[in-house]
Amino acid sequence: MNISPVEELFTLFNETALILQEELACSYLEALAETGENLFQGAILQEELSELTVKRLKKQYSELKLDQFSNEDLRKAFQLVILKGMKENVQPNHQMTPDSIGMLFGYLVEKFIKKPAFRLLDPAVGTGNLLTTVLNHSNKQISAVGVEIDDILIKLAYVNANLQGHPIQFFNQDSLESLFIEPVDSVIADLPIGYYPNDIRAADYQLKSDKGHSYSHHLFIEQSVRHTNPGGYLFFLVPNGLFESEQAAALHEYIKEHVYIQGLLQLPTSIFKNKNSAKSILILQKNGEGIQPPKQALLVNLPSLSNAYEMDKMLTKMEKWFQENKG
Ligand code: SAM
Repeated sequence: MNISPVEELFTLFNETALILQEELACSYLEALAETGENLFQGAILQEELSELTVKRLKKQYSELKLDQFSNEDLRKAFQLVILKGMKENVQPNHQMTPDSIGMLFGYLVEKFIKKPAFRLLDPAVGTGNLLTTVLNHSNKQISAVGVEIDDILIKLAYVNANLQGHPIQFFNQDSLESLFIEPVDSVIADLPIGYYPNDIRAADYQLKSDKGHSYSHHLFIEQSVRHTNPGGYLFFLVPNGLFESEQAAALHEYIKEHVYIQGLLQLPTSIFKNKNSAKSILILQKNGEGIQPPKQALLVNLPSLSNAYEMDKMLTKMEKWFQENKG
């Protein structure tokens, strides 16, 4: 029987995580981060393990050589084991960005950003799946920064980056607090949607709500724009109703002042659980001296990604837009 490289890696990550989960009495995701770190360091780092467990792990680790796998195989296998762990412990706002959306981000980043080298920020980096998908689909030199509030997710992101050999700079903090990073040329984010509980901190934002909690996705957009160089592009996964909520007027105002809308790509509803959770990719460009708005924004309703014929037509339409506006 032929086993694919992703399956081989999945089995290794899964089986060694299960061993560690049992011995360390921790969650599967924590054990996964531990086994990933062991693999990257080429050593068994947990001191509390029995001799027998160390032997079992060593044997399993010695059966695969990580440098024989491509980054995409490593990312996909790691993604599958994380999904398995997330099923045990479902948290709606922590979900990983799926591949289909990651690939679209990769395509858009490549199309919009012409610089051979640039700085890229993901302020809601989660497990790093979206960020590393974009990095794996680019042949430019990207210095990447990821910020994440959840300590287990950022550990997974860091292990994920190490296994794929991406030198990403990570910060484990609330992205809406002060960020001590150099300005970036681009931002990508699958935004956390909902209310931001810290009203005191929200008061520092133009997009704070006048009554009640502010929308964290609005504050994330403002924080991202603050840290972007003029002319830089920002790509956000946003709810379809972004411009129709009761706080949308302020967002419209903010956008008019600080950025140009370059595009809005509505994703097919079929990739979401239901119509209400359907999302779009919003593309912005920070304004500044000499930065011109596009003649017209790229407004697209993407067909089902499995409909090759319609998808092809749409890609041709998008290519034409790029030629006319970014050529
Ligand atoms: N793109 C990520 C991936 O591929 O794994 C998934 C992003 S997930 C939809 C949104 C992330 O934002 C979650 O991991 C969540 O923990 C994080 N988050 C929510 N509020 C945050 C905050 N105030 N500061 C930093 N991260 C935050």
